[in-house]
Amino acid sequence: MKIAVYPGSFDPITLGHLDIIKRASAMFDRMVVLVSVNTAKSPLFSADERVKMIKEATSDLNNVEVKSYEGLLIDYCRENNIRIIIRGLRAITDFEYELQIAQTNKTFSNGEVDTVFLTTSLEYAYLSSSTVREFASFHGDISHCVTPHVAEMVYRKYGYEAKNNNGGNQNEQQN
Ligand code: ADP
Repeated sequence: MKIAVYPGSFDPITLGHLDIIKRASAMFDRMVVLVSVNTAKSPLFSADERVKMIKEATSDLNNVEVKSYEGLLIDYCRENNIRIIIRGLRAITDFEYELQIAQTNKTFSNGEVDTVFLTTSLEYAYLSSSTVREFASFHGDISHCVTPHVAEMVYRKYGYEAKNNNGGNQNEQQN
């Protein structure tokens, strides 16, 4: 049985993340989307909230599970007998950072854990959770970045009602 883990902050999950999850889930028997609990960062959403949002967004994918974990990723892999980490690459700027982390995980796991990279689909190459947060904080339209349920949760965090994507002024807050 081939199992892979896709770790990340997912604060919040975007359509770019979902695209990676869908493509990777077709390559493996089982896949765990792992919300990293990083006590040094102060996220917009709690780990539980992020897990719930990802579960909702991936409910149609039978072989995908969603968990959260506080600690070293390679320890999670060892405890759960996982040898493959999935990461997404958007641009060369991601590559340098990702390469270093992948090599660290490979070395510190005594060569047991490999990282598989999937390149972003072009339509999501610009997308990041931080952009979504920034846009939403000014009530910008994030409907092309996240699922409707996630958009509602994000707007609610910033004290807005979800934006009506069909009504409203279409010229408002565009890139
Ligand atoms: P982290 O804080 O661990 O980088 P993120 O939630 O930002 O977590 O991202 C998790 C993974 O998803 C990373 O490998 C990142 O490069 C990838 N990723 C993020 N956004 C996209 C996107 N739009 N397309 C493809 N991969 C993405």
